[in-house]
Amino acid sequence: MRIGVLGGTFDPIHHGHLAAASEVCAVLGLDQILITPASHQPFKEPHDAASAEDRVAMCRLAVADDPRMEVSTVDVDRGGVTYTVDTLRDLAAAMPTAQLHFIAGADALARLHEWKDAEALPGLARFVGVTRAGHSLPPETGLHALVEVPALAVSSTDVRRRVRLGAPVRYLIPTAVADYISMHDLYLGGTDD
Ligand code: ATP
Ligand code: MG
Repeated sequence: MRIGVLGGTFDPIHHGHLAAASEVCAVLGLDQILITPASHQPFKEPHDAASAEDRVAMCRLAVADDPRMEVSTVDVDRGGVTYTVDTLRDLAAAMPTAQLHFIAGADALARLHEWKDAEALPGLARFVGVTRAGHSLPPETGLHALVEVPALAVSSTDVRRRVRLGAPVRYLIPTAVADYISMHDLYLGGTDD
């Protein structure tokens, strides 16, 4: 099995994530994409974050009708701060014959060298970069592949801000995710993003 792994906070998941995952799956001919929400992200500033349970639930709703995609809770189950090296080690242990492809957007790639055990990462997965609107790619990436994704200038930060201000989020996130956010009163109290 050739597996794509898209890690992130998914707070909330949006169509930029889904378009990137879908494109990598098609271009590289992968069998499955695992959307892997972090427990706690090392680089994130505090904001009005949703719980891990809510973020996982929204990811599940977002991929429910796409048979190529599944949500993995390895990071949420492990708890604590999420490091990609642990994600990949746990996934490799659970799926010893799988060939893992870790997907990272241009903004994430720029900081790859700062990740925990950065030198161990290439031995654990093939790294696949994806283009992201508003972010340029770092010059030296050492990537297995770079996939151009249809540009969707959407971020979770912007979605949270829109929810807080009552601005539209339709067409930026799946309808089921938008319904979940309003049903659970998420993202109404933040002020710092
Ligand atoms: P936040 O604004 O809270 O940081 P985000 O939109 O950047 O949220 P993350 O969960 O941080 O979402 O991103 C997870 C992964 O998805 C990262 O590798 C990121 O680069 C990638 N990604 C996010 N949005 C896009 C997009 N619109 N196009 C391509 N890749 C994206
Ligand atoms: Mg981000």
